[in-house]
Amino acid sequence: MSFPAEPAEATTESAPQTALDARSHLLNRATAEHYRSSVADGVDRVAVKLARVDRPFTGITPDRLAPAVSAIDLDRPLGDPAAALDELESVYLRDAIYFHHPRYLAHLNCPVVIPAVVGEAVLSAVNSSMDTWDQSAGGTLIERRLVDWTAERIGFGRAADGIFTSGGSQSNLQALLLARDEACRIVQKNAETSLRKPEILPRLRILTSEASHFSITKGATLLGLGPEAVISVPCDHDKRMQTVALARELERCAEQDLVVMAVVATAGTTDFGSIDPLPEIADLCERAGTWLHVDAAYGCGLLVSRRRHLLDGIERADSVTVDYHKSFFQPVSSSAVLVRDRETMRHVTYYADYLNPARMAENRIPNQVDKSIQTTRRFDALKLWMTLRVMGADGIGELFDEVVDRAAGGWELLNEDPRFEVVTRPQLSTLVFRYVPPAGADPVLTDRINLHAREALFASGDAIVAGTKVDGRHYLKFTLLNPETTLADIAHVLDLIAEHAGRCLAEHTATELSRPRAS
Ligand SMILES: *Cc1c(COP(=O)(O)O)cnc(C)c1O
Repeated sequence: MSFPAEPAEATTESAPQTALDARSHLLNRATAEHYRSSVADGVDRVAVKLARVDRPFTGITPDRLAPAVSAIDLDRPLGDPAAALDELESVYLRDAIYFHHPRYLAHLNCPVVIPAVVGEAVLSAVNSSMDTWDQSAGGTLIERRLVDWTAERIGFGRAADGIFTSGGSQSNLQALLLARDEACRIVQKNAETSLRKPEILPRLRILTSEASHFSITKGATLLGLGPEAVISVPCDHDKRMQTVALARELERCAEQDLVVMAVVATAGTTDFGSIDPLPEIADLCERAGTWLHVDAAYGCGLLVSRRRHLLDGIERADSVTVDYHKSFFQPVSSSAVLVRDRETMRHVTYYADYLNPARMAENRIPNQVDKSIQTTRRFDALKLWMTLRVMGADGIGELFDEVVDRAAGGWELLNEDPRFEVVTRPQLSTLVFRYVPPAGADPVLTDRINLHAREALFASGDAIVAGTKVDGRHYLKFTLLNPETTLADIAHVLDLIAEHAGRCLAEHTATELSRPRAS
């Protein structure tokens, strides 16, 4: 039954008709049945979609889709979720990018697991807010258990803590904020004369590899540091930070009276899935007394995998970023930042009379807002909770191991295929490669052909792949996060790429031949 079945009659109520209608959409005990049928209807349409989708994308362009979105009059409501869902088909569901499709191979978006989606439905309906106990109660305890669980997997000790965030970028920002304020505190403590924070900021530096995520630089800027604050450390052939170069930079900074507020190591670079040598980096940080942040936004899946050893050394970090919405098969958003020493969280603790007065902390009432840079915050932890309670950590680990295995198989395919060249042998689940014309070609043409192949593939909707640059040249990238993607799918997409690339090359050759020769 769709709702409202019939217009409610404004009889005894003094409220105007529209207000009555509006109240019928509020979720409460009177509307529980309406809620159940409306949500079920929405779920049903997604289920039908999932069953029917035969390509990851329809290939629609913004120009073709925009008029349909613009044409909708937002001041004329449809009054009924079913009608709005009908309308949504043409502006969203029909042309959405479907990450569950086995030929979606582009970014770090995963297909999601059902227990987490159930959690999502529960958390948005109950709508707990994680800032204070009096807005979340059990949610606070569940989030804390999951923080402890993750910290334990990392190998942190009992002093560890953490908080769920909106994503890896926010986790990195918060970790850098804690590192910055710890660095300032130490500099102030050791200074002979009193130093104000603004006087210290220009001396702060962050060392991170050239393959690290751009959110490090963005975070540094948000923290009031200049563009010179982030020093890029070169990588080796496998796109892992060179520790010799790191040691040199640490020394150079010390000589120049600069303060390295953090070394950021990446456990799973976004492009290559490469893992920086964590034990060696931890040694250098320990010697220099420097905060070590490990960005495991992508590689965190290893925490539950049979390849856990690839993260050895992560337990020596001061802070760690994990993105459950990447390698734990969770819906966006689900991420956390973990710290080895909970005391460092005080740098984001502020008290507000209306929300979390200091006396609450004294009364040991747990307030998550004391550790977050957000205030009102989603109960995203529930998704991971449901996942662990239904599938267990090993279930997630198996799924992640499967995509890592698949990437290894994909590398074999690429490495043996004369049409392509592949950059590194993957540690995780990405493959960076490019099409090379059979007779060779100049670099500009090779770039053009690869860019074209990616765009043509996207426009066809048959598959979606990503692209990136290596040493200034354009490459293609597969990010494998779907255990349903087979080697046959990968081989098929490689054929499609070669076809588009070959056609582009042929067209280029034809126009070159028809052009009158310059003498
Ligand atoms: C994706 C990614 C981030 C950013 O995470 P978001 O959840 O997209 O904000 C940070 N670091 C690495 C290594 C990543 O792969």
